[in-house]
Amino acid sequence: MKIAVIPGDGIGKEVMKEALLVLETLQELEEDLSVDTTIFDWSSDNYMRTGKMMPEDGLSILSEYDAILFGAIGDKRVPDDVTVWELIMPIRKQFNQYVNFRPVKSLPGITSPLVRADNIDFAIFRENTEGEYSNSGGRLYMDKPQELAIQNTVMTKTGITNIVSAACDYALKYGKSTVTSATKSNAVIHTMKFWDDCVAEQMKKYPELQLQSYYIDALVAYFIERPQEFEVVVASNLFGDILSDLGSAVIGGLGLSPSGNINPERIYPSMFEPVHGSAPDIAGRGIANPIAQIWSLALLLGHLGRTDLEKVIVTAIEQVLEAGEVKTADIGGAATTAEMGAAICEAVKSCFERRVV
Ligand code: NAD
Ligand code: MN
Repeated sequence: MKIAVIPGDGIGKEVMKEALLVLETLQELEEDLSVDTTIFDWSSDNYMRTGKMMPEDGLSILSEYDAILFGAIGDKRVPDDVTVWELIMPIRKQFNQYVNFRPVKSLPGITSPLVRADNIDFAIFRENTEGEYSNSGGRLYMDKPQELAIQNTVMTKTGITNIVSAACDYALKYGKSTVTSATKSNAVIHTMKFWDDCVAEQMKKYPELQLQSYYIDALVAYFIERPQEFEVVVASNLFGDILSDLGSAVIGGLGLSPSGNINPERIYPSMFEPVHGSAPDIAGRGIANPIAQIWSLALLLGHLGRTDLEKVIVTAIEQVLEAGEVKTADIGGAATTAEMGAAICEAVKSCFERRVV
C-alpha cells in the first residue's frame, strides 16, 4: 500500500502524528504489512513560502498513490477559498471522489449533548462533486440598489444515480434494509423533484431495500429525536454537508468523526480525513482529539482491503473510550493529544492479538 499523507495546518499536523504512530504500531505487529507513506507538506505554510497550496504537478504526484490520508487545512493568513479550492476541491474533483462517506456511530463513554440514545449506527452518503456547490451563477449590479446574486444547482442523472448506488451497495454489504433520502421536493425546487425521480428509479434495482424519503427540515429534527432508526442516509452535496456535521454533533463532537472521499470504481485514489478543520482556537497546545484522524486511517485501511485492521483500530478506540481513563478536553477530560494517541496504540496491540481474520 502506498499512502500519501497530507497533514495540512493547525491541529491537522498534531492529530496526523498520532495516526502515523498507530500505523507504525500495526507495522510492528504485522511484520510483512507493507505500507509506504510519503508525507507532503502541502499547507498554508507552504502557500506563504511559495504562493501555492500544492505544486503544479501535485495531482499527478498523488495519482501514483493507492490512497490519501489528509489532516485538515485552514489558516488565518490564507483565505479559506484558497485553502479549500486549491487543495481539497481539486483532489476531490480530479480523482472523481463523488462519494463522501461519514459514519455516525455511538461510542462508549461519550455522552452526546444532543441525544440520549446510545445505539446509533448509520452512515451518511453525501454527493461530493456537484449539486448546490457549483460554479454556475454570479453577482450582478454590484453596489447598485438592484444588486443580486444567482446560484445555479447542477444535478445530473449520472451524479445522483452514482451516489444512490454507492449508498445501496453499502446497505446490502452491511445487511441494512432501509435507505433514507434527504429531499425538499415539496417546495418549488426543480432539482429536488429530479433528485427524487432519479433516486426512486435507481432504487428499483435494489428490491431488497426500502426507500424512505424525508424533507430535509423534518429530517434534521429526526436526527435528534430518533437517530437510532437510521441505517443509510443519502443526500445532495449541501444537504449532506449539513447532515454530516449534525451527525457528528449527535454522537458527541467533531473530534470523533472521520470521513472518506471515495472513488468507488477505484480508478483513482480515495482520500480519508477527519470531518473537523484546523481548529485554530486550540492549535499548538497539543490538546486536540486525534480520534477522528485515527479513525480516518482505519477507513483508509478498510478501503484498501484490510477491513480486519480497520476493525482492530475502531475496537481499540472504543476500548479506550469505554475505560474512560484517557479523554481529551472536547469529550470532558484533560488528556493531551499524545496521551490519547498512546492509549489507542496500546489498545491496538491487545485488539490485534485477539482479531478475527
Ligand atoms: P473546526 O472544525 O476547525 O473547529 C470547530 C470547533 O471544534 C473548534 O472549537 C475546535 O476547537 C473544535 N474541534 C475541532 N476538531 C477538534 C478536535 N480534533 N479536538 C478537539 N476539538 C476540536 O472548524 P472551524 O473553526 O469552523 O474552522 C477552522 C478552519 O478550518 C477554517 O479555516 C476552516 O475553513 C477550516 N476547515 C477545514 C476543513 C478541512 O480541512 N476539510 C473542514 C472544516 C473547516
Ligand atoms: Mn461541513
